[in-house]
Amino acid sequence: MKSAREGVIEAFSHLAPGISLTQKGGLTVTSPADGAVIAELAEDDAKTLDAKIARASAAQKSLCSLTRAERVVLLETLSAAIKQHREKLAELVTLEGGKTTKEALAEVDGSADIILKTCKDASLADLTGMHRCKERPPVGIVGLITSFNFPIAVANWTIAPALLAASAVLWKPSEKTPLTALAYKAVFDQAMGGHADLLQILIGGRAIGEAMVAHESVDMISATGSVGMGKGIKAALAKKKNNSVKPILELGGNNGVIISERMSPEHLQWAVASLLNSFLGTSGQRCTNTRRLIVHRSMYERVVGALEKHLQEFLDTKTIVNPLSGASNDYGYGPLIDKGAYERFEHAKKHVLAEGGKILLGDRLYAGEFPHAYYVEPALAMLPSQTSIMHEETFAPILFIAPYDGEIAEAIAMVNAPANAGLVNGIYTQSRKEADEFAARNLAGHGVINSPKGTGTPAFGMGFGGNKDSGEGEILNSTDPLRAFTREDAYRRIAQNADVVMDFL
Ligand code: NAD
Repeated sequence: MKSAREGVIEAFSHLAPGISLTQKGGLTVTSPADGAVIAELAEDDAKTLDAKIARASAAQKSLCSLTRAERVVLLETLSAAIKQHREKLAELVTLEGGKTTKEALAEVDGSADIILKTCKDASLADLTGMHRCKERPPVGIVGLITSFNFPIAVANWTIAPALLAASAVLWKPSEKTPLTALAYKAVFDQAMGGHADLLQILIGGRAIGEAMVAHESVDMISATGSVGMGKGIKAALAKKKNNSVKPILELGGNNGVIISERMSPEHLQWAVASLLNSFLGTSGQRCTNTRRLIVHRSMYERVVGALEKHLQEFLDTKTIVNPLSGASNDYGYGPLIDKGAYERFEHAKKHVLAEGGKILLGDRLYAGEFPHAYYVEPALAMLPSQTSIMHEETFAPILFIAPYDGEIAEAIAMVNAPANAGLVNGIYTQSRKEADEFAARNLAGHGVINSPKGTGTPAFGMGFGGNKDSGEGEILNSTDPLRAFTREDAYRRIAQNADVVMDFL
């Protein structure tokens, strides 16, 4: 098995041979797979930020002179280029993001597909013999900030609609996963030819992110990250003159699922198995992971017993392994991103005990072999009630379980209670009345009822977005993907007779 360092050198020699992996100037990148340092990168500063904005701005002006159809061709070329380099891009997602090979490939493929889907969704179907389209003015320069856990997919959720709407993008990737972004940029440059300056990458942490948000030439922010990041961005935008375009903030969640007493034993078994995917997915490092279970007391022992059995079976498969081996498991379960994530996992376990709860599993794995990489067993945390630790988003594989005794209203109030429970909540029940009551009273941006994948895939083509502390705005809106990335004024509705023969002269 090659080391993470060797893997990165090899991937860059294919994708971006011009980029040195030992630069002077600040950012050390380590691999969560084996804890090794895999690159040192120069960080951007106020001066390079200005220069990159100037380049993006010039490129955006020339993009505006292209028609929508020409922009679609550019984006199709980009999607094809990502597909062409899917293996090497996915390797980088594994090397610096710690994802299993299967999960990393799915992310890269999904990121290429979303480009084509955005182009398709943005066109209207013909009506009464007329081709139709709606145009709104582009935003201008979009500042994109991404989190470590989806190093490429989440970026394309913004890059695709922004470019299609004729904006340019400044992308500040997570300081934990900048290499995928640099490799993406190399692929982008090849695909976009003379339009390569439309995408600029900013390397660094929070400081350069803050400088980008505050810059008066950046017209809109689309940011994915923690609740704290969202609060910081909102405060900075409030001080800015150029803040008329609403931001998109996709923030942390604290997703809760109710297990009612009104269901057959078979449905209960199915519900518990369905939840596993959203509990274990990406080792608890997805915004949509199920983090809290609110279980009717009459079902409590059965739910805990079934979960424990499933987890033990998963551990017995011995498929929680170093993702550099190429091995995968059903959940994309690999290492935690870094020591900080491991410390937060341990902090949560301690709090559970201090708050009168009990922990099952959750031990560290392979500490001897990988002292600087953090593999853990998933943990079940049984609490007597919804205590304070359940109000935090612990971005790790720990599932908090608390009972309720009364009617469904009590469980719905519990699931809604944390301020950060604004992304996805769910319920398993076979009572229509309970399902209707949940649909009416769930406060999160998404509500899933008897979902086959827990809280894991909540959008179902309806767009994605959080409420309360979990975010603002909507992305992936399949009925109008450009809406969030265009200015609301000066709508132009264009209709062209589809029957008139064209281009025959
Ligand atoms: P993070 O908040 O630590 O960092 C995210 C990004 O924001 C990084 O690029 C970071 O440098 C930047 N940043 C942080 N503070 C900033 C500020 N004040 N101004 C500008 N930039 C700033 O998050 P993370 O640890 O990378 O990712 C995990 C978090 O992201 C979790 O809370 C998770 O739920 C959330 N997340 C949400 C979604 C969603 O769609 N809702 C998707 C993925 C991840």
